[in-house]
Amino acid sequence: MIDYEASAETMAMKQSVRDFVDRELIPAENEVEETGQVPPRLVEMMRELGLFGMRIPSEYGGLGLDLVSYCLVSEELTRSHAAYRALVQVNNGIGSKCVVLAGSEEQKQRFLPELASGDKIAAFAMTEPEAGSDAANIRTTARLDGDAYVIDGLKHFITNGPAADYVTVVALTEPEKRAKGMSVFIVERGTPGFEVSRVQETMGPRGYHQAELSFDGCRVPKANRVGEPGTGFKTALRCLNEGRISMAVASIGACQRLLDEACGYAKARVQFGKPIAAQQAIQFMLADMAAEHFAARAMTLEAAWQVERNPRNNQYSSMAKLFASEAAGRVADRAVQIFGGMGYMKELPVERIYREVRLHRIVEGTSEIQRLIIARELLRD
Ligand SMILES: Cc1cc2nc3c(=O)[nH]c(=O)nc-3n(C[C@H](O)[C@H](O)[C@H](O)COP(=O)(O)OP(=O)(O)OC[C@H]3O[C@@H](n4cnc5c(N)ncnc54)[C@H](O)[C@@H]3O)c2cc1C
Repeated sequence: MIDYEASAETMAMKQSVRDFVDRELIPAENEVEETGQVPPRLVEMMRELGLFGMRIPSEYGGLGLDLVSYCLVSEELTRSHAAYRALVQVNNGIGSKCVVLAGSEEQKQRFLPELASGDKIAAFAMTEPEAGSDAANIRTTARLDGDAYVIDGLKHFITNGPAADYVTVVALTEPEKRAKGMSVFIVERGTPGFEVSRVQETMGPRGYHQAELSFDGCRVPKANRVGEPGTGFKTALRCLNEGRISMAVASIGACQRLLDEACGYAKARVQFGKPIAAQQAIQFMLADMAAEHFAARAMTLEAAWQVERNPRNNQYSSMAKLFASEAAGRVADRAVQIFGGMGYMKELPVERIYREVRLHRIVEGTSEIQRLIIARELLRD
C-alpha cells in the first residue's frame, strides 16, 4: 500500500504549476492550435519553472523529484494542451531515461543538463513500420565501423521528432539475436545521414508533433552508445515502464480538466428554464466522471510509488496506464454529451480533448499490450 506524504516543496511546486497552467497555458491553447506550435515565451516560462528537468537527477541540473512528486506536479500540467506536456514529458522521461539509467558519467554530464534546462529537446525512437507492439521486431541496424556505429533504418510516429536535438534510438547491433542484440544510441540533430523524412499528421491536437526519422549510413561516435551492447531492449523497456506512468498522468489531468469544464457548463447552460446541472441525468454523468478520475488517480499514484521502489516491476504501471487511459475515453465521451452540440464544436476545448485522449489507449503500448503484461505477471510460476 502506498505510504507517502508529499513534501512541502512538492506541494509548493504543484501550486505554482497549477497557477501557471491556469494563468498562462490554458488561455494560450487556441494560439497553439492556430500556429501549430507552443509559443516560445511559454517554453521559456516552462524552463524557468524547472519543468523540463523534474525527473532528472539534481547533480545533472534537474530537480530530482521522486516519481510520485513528479505525478503530483504533472497532473496540473496535463490539464492543458497536449503540446505542452509532450515537450516536458519526453525530456523528463523516455527522452532522457536511457541515459539516466544506463549512461556513462560522461554521457550524463554531456546530455542531461541541457535536457533538464529545456535548452535541448529530446525524442525516443523505438517504433518502426514493422515493429509497433512487437517492438522486438525492429529492423534498424547499428554496425560497428572503427570508432563509430553506422545506423541504417527507419523509425516512425516519433513524438517531438521534427524538433528534437537528441534522439534516443534503439537499433540492432547483433541482428541475429533480436531483442538480446539491441543497443541504445544518442543521435544528435545534424548528424550526416540522419533526417526527419516526414512530419506525420494526426487526428490529435496541433503542436504535438510526430515524425518519421530516417537513418542512412548515419555515423554515430561509439561514445554515443548508451550502456553495453545487447542491453538496449531491456533499458528501453525500463524507460517505457515509467513512460506508462506519464501517460496515466496525462489521462488523469485530462479527466480533471473535462470534469471542471463539464461542471462549469452544466451550471451555466439553461434548458427548460433551469440549468442542466439540475437534471439528475447530468448529475449522474458528472458523478461517474468524478469517480473514474478518483480511481485512475489513486491507481496512478500507487503505481508511481511501486515503480519508484522497484523499477523492474511493470504490472502496476500497466494497470494504471490501462485503467486511466480507458477512463479518460469514457470521461471525455460523457463530457461531450453534457456539452451537447457545443461538445462537438471546435470552439470549445472538449472537442480537442476528446480527440487527444483517444491516443492514450495506443501510445506507450496499447491497451491490449498492457493486458498481456498484466496477465503475464499474474500467471508467472
Ligand atoms: C501519436 C503517437 C505518438 C507516438 N510516439 C512515439 C514515440 O515517441 N516513440 C516511439 O518509439 N513510438 C511512438 N509511438 C508508437 C506507439 O508506441 C505505437 O503506435 C504503439 O505501440 C502501437 O504500435 P502500432 O501502432 O504499430 O500498432 P500495432 O502493433 O500494429 O497494433 C495494431 C492493433 O493490434 C493489436 N495487437 C498487436 N499485437 C497484439 C497482441 N499480441 N495481442 C492482442 N492485440 C495485439 C494492438 O493492440 C492494436 O490494437 C507513437 C504513436 C502515436 C500514435
